[in-house]
Amino acid sequence: MQTDVLVIGSGIAGLSYALELAALRPETAITLLTKRDVLESNTKYAQGGIAVVQDFVSDSFESHIADTLKAGDGLCDPEVVRFVVEEGPKRLDQLIHWGAQFDSAANRLHLGKEGGHSAHRIVHYKDQSGFEIQQSLIAALKSKPNIRLLENHTLVDLITDHHHDQAPKNACYGAYVISLEDLKILKINAQITVLSTGGASQIYDFSTNPEGATGDGIAAAYRAKVTIKSLQYVQFHPTALAQKVGGNTFLISEAVRGAGAYLRNKEGERFMFSHDVRGELASRDIVARGIESEMLKTTRDFVYLDAIHFKVGVFEKEFPHIFENCMHLGIDPRETYIPVRPAAHYFCGGVHVNIHGETSLSRLYAIGECSHTGLHGANRLASNSLLEALVYAHSAAQSSAQVLKNSHIEDTYLDGIPEWNSAQQLIDKNSKKLQKLKRSVQKLLSLKAGVYKTTKGLQEAEEAMAVYYDKAKALYNTNKLTPQICELRNLVNVGYLMIKQSQECQENRGGFFNQDLEVKP
Ligand SMILES: Cc1cc2nc3c(=O)[nH]c(=O)nc-3n(C[C@H](O)[C@H](O)[C@H](O)COP(=O)(O)OP(=O)(O)OC[C@H]3O[C@@H](n4cnc5c(N)ncnc54)[C@H](O)[C@@H]3O)c2cc1C
Repeated sequence: MQTDVLVIGSGIAGLSYALELAALRPETAITLLTKRDVLESNTKYAQGGIAVVQDFVSDSFESHIADTLKAGDGLCDPEVVRFVVEEGPKRLDQLIHWGAQFDSAANRLHLGKEGGHSAHRIVHYKDQSGFEIQQSLIAALKSKPNIRLLENHTLVDLITDHHHDQAPKNACYGAYVISLEDLKILKINAQITVLSTGGASQIYDFSTNPEGATGDGIAAAYRAKVTIKSLQYVQFHPTALAQKVGGNTFLISEAVRGAGAYLRNKEGERFMFSHDVRGELASRDIVARGIESEMLKTTRDFVYLDAIHFKVGVFEKEFPHIFENCMHLGIDPRETYIPVRPAAHYFCGGVHVNIHGETSLSRLYAIGECSHTGLHGANRLASNSLLEALVYAHSAAQSSAQVLKNSHIEDTYLDGIPEWNSAQQLIDKNSKKLQKLKRSVQKLLSLKAGVYKTTKGLQEAEEAMAVYYDKAKALYNTNKLTPQICELRNLVNVGYLMIKQSQECQENRGGFFNQDLEVKP
């Protein structure tokens, strides 16, 4: 298969990139592939909203920049932070133009407040902002004749010079992709390839991310020797519902604390002020560690979120989706404390890119959560990730349009790339083994490389991961390739790399905390 541009992943990053580029170059053939249905993504589950400065009287770009830098704990790239924050209003207008709706009153957007933000600046649609965004982008996409959507297709590996015997050009030429339906492996050649595959929080056993967030784009880029940075900075969301809903972890949005909910320990005492003067609204890393310490102290695997004091009708009106899910479990937040605990939520690190979303491999872009732009530093400020995805999708589309205009890989060169060699692969008899292995990896990483890490724990995790790596490799080499085997391989690759980068990290900042390193004053 041949396309001009191959976009891998259908969250806010991939969808908005495809829409931007389709508008800039209606003559360009864009193929957007995604491993499940087009709606499935982290984006779909985003609750809080997008951080964008709107009220220039009580808020400012400078204030949003300062909050982002503070949350990032000294590791943000200040130029990137300014670029993203200042682009915010334009990108939000574009999103509204594509059809997304947000809560408003008297012709002004309603602005929520979240942890680490010093002003009300979270643009949202009830407590289902991501779902609204995702649906609107998909609807807009369907009106673009030059975008072809391929659902149920999973990236296996990127195509690079390694797959071609002619002189190396250090570029990406598309990807090998597996179809869920018939397990055929397609070779898709492209002038430009874009990774928009989202995060990797499924490497942990308690995660707010959907099942597909297995770091596939990051792992494929790593195997293609592309630069990957800062994987040690995993953000744990402080308040996931302690009980699973339908086997999945459900998030109690930061916005609930923004609206005034308290965190209480087993004895019913508020404890966050002993960790930070901002109490429940300290940045996520601090709140997650506060909760984790409380859990360790009381040997309980949850604390409580108290919203009982909210004014009558506020909870169900402002957080209808959260309300419904709590009620489903028999927890009425108007009368009872909600049991919550930290869960792996967001990868601040990923495929390293410049301001145009370009990776270290020519013709390969990375945008959204799979990328590392320098915006988040050691810890992401709440609601900055949808913003980052929009801003970088836009700049990557602009840059791609230039590349497509100025240079072209010859078809004869692309034709020389071989088909996927699946000759030695046998029929899959190992799906139970695979599930078991996946659970073991997730449990190991949660235990040894979670909110609190230790040098010994990381060492033990590294050794165990080497064994899991061999087991995953054996499954990969001796079975018919399936999307599940691909995901396991990716999970192991990203988990291993996260541990290696954690071991190299010699100071505690933001989301990274090794108890054996000196604590910053
Ligand atoms: C519960 C929850 C709440 C959140 N709330 C907020 C919030 O309020 N504000 C905020 O800013 N951020 C929030 N986030 C984070 C934010 O949603 C994500 O960072 C953002 O949506 C990532 O967008 P993306 O397009 O990069 O990736 P995603 O939206 O995750 O999309 C990735 C896409 O890639 C596809 N894919 C993955 N691997 C492959 C493969 N191998 N082959 C083909 N396709 C593949 C996936 O199926 C998916 O379509 C939240 C996240 C979660 C989980």
